[in-house]
Amino acid sequence: MGRVVYIAAALLAALAALIVSLGPAPMREGITAACMVKSEARIAPADLSQGGEHWTCRDQPDTNPTHQSGFARFDLASDGARPRYLVSRIGSFDTLRATVVDRDGSMRSLSYDPDEARLISGAPLFVLELPEVTPASRAVFLQIDGMRHDMTLTQAGLFVENPGVTTDHYRKMMFLCLLLGMMLAPVLFDMSAWSALRLPFIRWHASLAIAFSMLVFVQSGLVTEFVELTMAEMRVLLIMALGIASFAACMFTHNFIEDDRMDWRMRRLLPWAGGWALAVSAIYSANFDLLAPLGGVLHSYAMAPVLLVMMLAMFDAYRKGSRAIRFQIIGWIPLFAAFAMQLLASLTSFDQPTDALSLLYLGVMSETAITALGVADRFYVLRRERDIALSQAHELGELTERDPLTGLLNRRAIDSRFDELHARGYETFALFDLDHFKHVNDTAGHATGDRVLQIVAGILEEDLDSIAIRMGGEEFLLLMRGEDAEQRLERLREQIPIRVTHEVPQLERLVTASVGMVVAPRRAVPRAGFALLYNNADRLLYDAKSRGRNRIACEKLCGFDRRKGNRRRDERRGAAA
Ligand code: GH3
Ligand code: MG
Ligand code: MG
Repeated sequence: MGRVVYIAAALLAALAALIVSLGPAPMREGITAACMVKSEARIAPADLSQGGEHWTCRDQPDTNPTHQSGFARFDLASDGARPRYLVSRIGSFDTLRATVVDRDGSMRSLSYDPDEARLISGAPLFVLELPEVTPASRAVFLQIDGMRHDMTLTQAGLFVENPGVTTDHYRKMMFLCLLLGMMLAPVLFDMSAWSALRLPFIRWHASLAIAFSMLVFVQSGLVTEFVELTMAEMRVLLIMALGIASFAACMFTHNFIEDDRMDWRMRRLLPWAGGWALAVSAIYSANFDLLAPLGGVLHSYAMAPVLLVMMLAMFDAYRKGSRAIRFQIIGWIPLFAAFAMQLLASLTSFDQPTDALSLLYLGVMSETAITALGVADRFYVLRRERDIALSQAHELGELTERDPLTGLLNRRAIDSRFDELHARGYETFALFDLDHFKHVNDTAGHATGDRVLQIVAGILEEDLDSIAIRMGGEEFLLLMRGEDAEQRLERLREQIPIRVTHEVPQLERLVTASVGMVVAPRRAVPRAGFALLYNNADRLLYDAKSRGRNRIACEKLCGFDRRKGNRRRDERRGAAA
């Protein structure tokens, strides 16, 4: 276990290094707002420039969620760059109005719908073209109405070049494709593991990896490289991806933790928490007007219990000594940190930097990679347990197929396998019965009788090309293959009185055996069957007994190949014609 944890930690560190080196650079290169404010009252650009009564010029916007209008002022230096684009974080709003004010007081305004915003792939950002900025321009004012998320205001920046078409953009694309490839690799492992052992947690791990990949695919904006999306569609996709990922995470934990390593109430709660996350996401993405005033805050509040249930479940499993949960905890640490920051950002006025995205990417990546190690570990543990159980069952099966007194196979063992053995060449069927055995028991005692049975069993086992079976009482069956079966059989039979007398000298009479022997060549009688041979052998045994005991009665079965017979008949007819 210890080694696996070190490997997991090393993997995590390598991933962190990769993500820090390749990860998306923070979007802070543009001109940022000098002042911004959230207010319910309308503020005219003229008021803003003069520092009107509502304008407080704070760094952070008002967090009162009922205020849905945001205002920002970007100051322009006379000799500075002339921005052409407004870029901000994706979030829903009703309208956005940008006004360029010149030093002489003249103004140019443009209003935009969310649908007019072009999404930047590789970043959760949108871009809009500003009204013309000239060297005489003094400031740009931004007014966002019906704003659901503060980040649309706080992350706004003005850019000279469209950040969506820079070389940096392609670097991000490369990084994201690499990340997605790495995240989907465990799915291949899951598929092969699933084909070997149908354990539900393997399926849920694959679902989780796919859901997280979807989350990164949408959240990063990479999706817009492939399909054109409006901001509203993007938002629905993002919320649903998060909902599905939360559901898959809950179901995975529910199935992944060992049976006795989590409180049953906790385990029962997990699918409900997952279902709740899914339902909240569906309702929220439908964007009911009723919920609009509360915006992103409501979603964060609604998702918080899911995170709480997951953390409690993981804590409970850890306390109860779950081996599987250790992988999950290591994998989840960066993700919890990212979620906690996200939550903090929406519940307080704490402004989430765009770099927090790197943490999210690191989080989902480490979660899928390290839980994949956990899945592999648990898979091998379970398979080992299964193999042990199977071999125990096999041994138990063997035990029920053996006679406890002599250690020979019993009738039950041979009944089901006879056809296969016959096909493999065991063509001689010899049924032994000891003569006057009752007398042994009556004169020397049952224990001595048992000893005699063991000696006889030992003799029958000495023929290496035969299988000896105790059919019951003092009756044995010898299935023989190979050359000279009749001679070998006679030699074994003769050994019985010699050896028994030698080992149990106190017996009054010789212990002899009668044998009914049937030879059933498989080519002649391929489907002789156990019942037929047993009946024939039994009949021959009775003959041997009635003719004075201590002898073999033998018979060979003959078959008739119908196809060969028909061909010969046809040949004869052909010759006659
Ligand atoms: P026959 O020559 O006609 O076969 O005479 P027999 O006495 O051998 O035949 P019978 O079937 O009358 O008696 C078989 C005896 O074998 C009866 C039973 O007490 C004894 N026997 C059966 N199973 C065991 C066993 O496991 N241990 C011992 N000691 N005796 C057994
Ligand atoms: Mg007998
Ligand atoms: Mg008998």
